[in-house]
Amino acid sequence: MNASEVLDRYWDGCLPVDVVGIAQRMGLAVESVDVLDNGASGEIEQAADGSFVIRFVRAEPEVRQRFTVAHEIGHFALGHLRGSQRMFRDSVADFSTGARGLERQANAFAAALLMPARIVEYVLAHKDIASDAALARHFAVSGVALKYRLRDLGLTSI
Ligand SMILES: [Zn+2]
Repeated sequence: MNASEVLDRYWDGCLPVDVVGIAQRMGLAVESVDVLDNGASGEIEQAADGSFVIRFVRAEPEVRQRFTVAHEIGHFALGHLRGSQRMFRDSVADFSTGARGLERQANAFAAALLMPARIVEYVLAHKDIASDAALARHFAVSGVALKYRLRDLGLTSI
């Protein structure tokens, strides 16, 4: 399931996109924790009983927590957890623009989930928002995440 399909099925249409609510409606448990092994920012794990849990570090900035949860939803929705792959534990490198493979896919999913294409396009077309910083706040994402999302959509900054 791609991000657009997840939004269609599980999003309530409100901004900023409630990624924890989406995860829960998808049947995924979400927990905030003080620390993860290896200094990770987030992880998704399939338990022995088949259930899934997403964990993120509560001390990190909210925009980062949100991207982390969206990234972990991506691993689930894109079918990355299968066979012997029962866990993804993500550190800074996995969220960077230099990430490759499944991590890159999960990042692209996260950006598309947090910043739905049609909403970004609508806002830019109607000029409701005066700056990139305000637009980032509108979606509760980092300025860097917004910049890359606009570029990927072929849009220019405000
Ligand atoms: Zn990952």
